Amino acid sequence: MKTPVYLDYASTTPVDPEVVAVMTQFLSMEGQFGNPASRSHRFGWQAEEAVDIARNQVAQAIGADAREIVFTSGATESDNLAIKGVMLAAPNTRRHMITVATEHKAVLDTCEYLEGQGIAVTYLTPRSDGLIELSDLANAITQETRMISVMAVNNETGVQQDLAAIAKLCRQHDVIFHVDAAQAVGKMAFNVAALDIDLASFSAHKVYGPKGIGALYVKRRADLSLQALIHGGGHERGMRSGTLATHQIAGMGKAFELAAEQLKAELAHYAELRAIVQSGLDAIAGVVINGHPSQVVPNIINFSVADVDGETLLMSLYNLAVSSGSACNSATVAPSFVLKAMGLSDQMALNAIRLSVGRFTTVEDVNYAVVELKQVIEQLRGL
Ligand SMILES: *Cc1c(COP(=O)(O)O)cnc(C)c1O
Repeated sequence: MKTPVYLDYASTTPVDPEVVAVMTQFLSMEGQFGNPASRSHRFGWQAEEAVDIARNQVAQAIGADAREIVFTSGATESDNLAIKGVMLAAPNTRRHMITVATEHKAVLDTCEYLEGQGIAVTYLTPRSDGLIELSDLANAITQETRMISVMAVNNETGVQQDLAAIAKLCRQHDVIFHVDAAQAVGKMAFNVAALDIDLASFSAHKVYGPKGIGALYVKRRADLSLQALIHGGGHERGMRSGTLATHQIAGMGKAFELAAEQLKAELAHYAELRAIVQSGLDAIAGVVINGHPSQVVPNIINFSVADVDGETLLMSLYNLAVSSGSACNSATVAPSFVLKAMGLSDQMALNAIRLSVGRFTTVEDVNYAVVELKQVIEQLRGL
């Protein structure tokens, strides 16, 4: 059987060969395998230097200072640390936060946990194009609101929220602003300083780095104190204990450096691929693109197919590695909660496909995908 064409980069990416080459330097006896916290010999110093370099690479790619980067195990942990870290430390008069119904489960499940701890959470419903109405957000803010958490780029639809406008509202009301930016790096200009963000979550494996490593950007401001979730040793300025994984961190640093260097070229590459997919889908009747037409990253395209059975459709597309809604929910056949929150019917949400391209996707790949989609859809409708 033919290997399917990989069009699921939003769920994870292969590690870039340049990143692999860097990572292998920090593992064996011949390499710099030392513990970055060892202060008494050169094995430790070398590892510490590698971590410093990576911290600077990550910081530079997102417009931060190296001292504002906390390494974690991934964006899930970063979301947990940001949201629990702020809300569990919030004064009694500020135990309210606001988020959006279409956030990643790493945010939504964390908020649900906090509700059990007596934190009040408001979940905004987006418009049908996936964007939140800024007046809804403004109206939800009360004197008790401590934090607002809104993602940069939705992992299912690619829709980009207006972060600068949200940040402005946060400043006006003295509210802490957290952004899940796992899908933003390498797909848009994302600069925490320019956007005036307080906390931002990142993952390496969405950006051609390894799985199991991520970072939380924590702005240096006097009133921003995070309650740590993991104790022991006081690494990462007490915010995240545990021996630093030098090879993972060095890999993430290189991956973020590459993402920043290649951003312009990659955006052009994605735009070319998207145009092919878009015109291919336009030629198939009953295909609806989900999400805002222009406030969207170019690498993700989410569409629903009318008049077919969703499950049969996905099974018939065995030559394409695509996702139905979000991979995180694909253990169940429930319609995507993200698309449901945008007002899609159960049927159109069940019939949704997320196609996401990446660094190694070719024009041939998407040409093939378009032909395959048209054939399969027409075949299923002819039955
Ligand atoms: C992938 C993803 C996460 C989870 O990241 P991990 O590093 O896999 O824990 C969180 N939020 C968004 C938006 C994502 O796309």
